[in-house]
Amino acid sequence: MTIVGIVGAGTMGAEIAHVASVAGMHVRVADADMARAEGGVARARVIGEKRVERGRLDAATAADAARRVRAVGAIDDLAGVDVVIEAVPEDLALKTAVHRRIDEVVGPDVLVATNTSGLSVTALGDATARPSRLVGLHFFNPASTMRLVEVIAGAATAEDTVARATALAEALGKTPVRVRECPGFVVNRVLVRAMAEAFRAAAGAPVDRRAADAMVADGGPAPMGPFALGDLVGLDVLESIRADLEAAYGDRFDDAGTLAPLVAAGRLGRKTGGGLVPDGDARPTGTEPVVAAIYYAGAMDEARRLADEGVAAPDDIDLAMRLGAGWSEGPLASG
Ligand code: NAD
Repeated sequence: MTIVGIVGAGTMGAEIAHVASVAGMHVRVADADMARAEGGVARARVIGEKRVERGRLDAATAADAARRVRAVGAIDDLAGVDVVIEAVPEDLALKTAVHRRIDEVVGPDVLVATNTSGLSVTALGDATARPSRLVGLHFFNPASTMRLVEVIAGAATAEDTVARATALAEALGKTPVRVRECPGFVVNRVLVRAMAEAFRAAAGAPVDRRAADAMVADGGPAPMGPFALGDLVGLDVLESIRADLEAAYGDRFDDAGTLAPLVAAGRLGRKTGGGLVPDGDARPTGTEPVVAAIYYAGAMDEARRLADEGVAAPDDIDLAMRLGAGWSEGPLASG
């Protein structure tokens, strides 16, 4: 019987708790206090109920799974678990403090994973006494339905840790893809590069964004275009990732100032209303096919760089884009 400890009972913590419980594992959920941990347990149960309503899960399995998830008052109550998955907010100082505490509380053989979207696994591991047992397990949202998990090895992560994390992802019903640590990992790096290219191209020419999105979705493997995707992800989240990637890799992640003014105005896409895609009917100007071509060229170039740098194997990059971004075919498949 595997006992999984989850630290951070927010959006991802609740989803991962549900996934682990459906896989037959026992789950202990910790947050900053008991009330928040209980809130996460309740949300994990609701995730199961919604999947039952949609016909994705049978009611008995969901009920059994929900019984295996319980809240605990603090990280200190995770002493007996086999695995810890940390899903606290994306803040290096906060995550560092949390990993120090986890490291002190759990036994030396416990696998410790971080669900960071982009912080350095190496830096987090270095803050602990056992950097070799820390690994990145990057789940995608919603983790209950998204099959991809990027398994990120930091500089000090032991081979055995990667193997255990890979086996854990498989036991959770996911498809693990091995990624050597780099800013953005695979899926976010490819998508955000393609989006930045499209935003830059659109900033310099009259472009109807709805029509450009349609050209991307109809003319290639991506399920939606960059403007609709930005509004779906949330422009504040996207801008934070993009700015980090521009700092790491330079001008190819420049978006020509497309996102910052919208974020400053609180127009964050679907969650607030307002964003990249305007209301009303599309009025193509004729330049949209260029934007779509630039989007795919950007994705392909970034995917090639990932392969050349040895971040992931070419087939794994394609697999990650299919399972993590919903592409019908990976960017390297035809290259
Ligand atoms: P969230 O804000 O929904 O949840 C974070 C939870 O951590 C909250 O419940 C909060 O109370 C708790 N927390 C804060 N400080 C804590 C502490 N000291 N000890 C214990 N718990 C504490 O965040 P989220 O969207 O679930 O993201 C969590 C992590 O997952 C981040 O690193 C994020 O980058 C990553 N991630 C998010 C998504 C996504 O789409 N939301 C996708 C992939 C990865």
